[in-house]
Amino acid sequence: MPIALNPNMRRALAERMRFYNELGIYDFYQRGEAVVAESDSASPVVSQPELREEMAARKSAVVATVVEDNIFAVLTPKPEHGAADPATALKLIREDLGDCTRCKLHQQGRKQIVFGVGNPRAELMFVGEGPGADEDAQGEPFVGRAGQLLNNMIKAMGLQREDVYIANVVKCRPPGNRTPERDECETCSPFLMRQIAVIKPKVVVALGAVAAKNLLAINAPMSELRGRFYDFLPAGGRTNDPSWSGARLAVTYHPAFLLRDPRQKGEAWKDLQMVMKYLGLRPPKADA
Ligand code: SF4
Repeated sequence: MPIALNPNMRRALAERMRFYNELGIYDFYQRGEAVVAESDSASPVVSQPELREEMAARKSAVVATVVEDNIFAVLTPKPEHGAADPATALKLIREDLGDCTRCKLHQQGRKQIVFGVGNPRAELMFVGEGPGADEDAQGEPFVGRAGQLLNNMIKAMGLQREDVYIANVVKCRPPGNRTPERDECETCSPFLMRQIAVIKPKVVVALGAVAAKNLLAINAPMSELRGRFYDFLPAGGRTNDPSWSGARLAVTYHPAFLLRDPRQKGEAWKDLQMVMKYLGLRPPKADA
């Protein structure tokens, strides 16, 4: 049964939320029923979004629903929440990842963790599914033949590899380059989400169906996933962050697939042109 709060209690809750916000704590989880305002005749029922807005008046906070008065069972804040800049925040996420053994990929022949590379303030981010042999050897995503093609795609958009940020859904090479399994993606992808949340790109391009399905939590064929933008806020992103309200996400073919079926390059170029238009990018001049 919903718990009713009188105005004094609501004010006290709001103050407490601000207190936690100022400590850098934004993530709360819910236990029990959602709270509604007193529903007596003199006091209109306050919807949860209205209550949330009131509680977040001074600073951003993601609060799914306000809960019973022992609501403040607080999740451990992420180390990067207090970071001064995105480069430091990424470093803190990498440190938090450590010599990760969270999923079984750590014991299936990986040489190293492939965290991600690029501009910590990138407006454009590419996300693939996982490292291959070259990436595993070099510790950097998209450095093999598929990486060369991705570099060419980036150049064709009028950018350099150093301008964007590149990462994968899983950070350890699946043996034999198999598709990462669901539990592996679910275990690893929160780190990717945290990377996206600190980089705050304008556009995320999902390279291939595995990346698209994991980022969007949609199970659909590429033919349905491509050709449009999705509004994307990574899990853990702050819905009322004044500096970033999420990215647009586009889906295109994985470069490794394009190497196998070059006839689809034209379709991929259409996807990239959609992104270029949104970002105001132009292809480089022929003699550039
Ligand atoms: S794939 Fe991700 S979660 Fe799994 S061991 Fe590697 S870094 Fe850890």
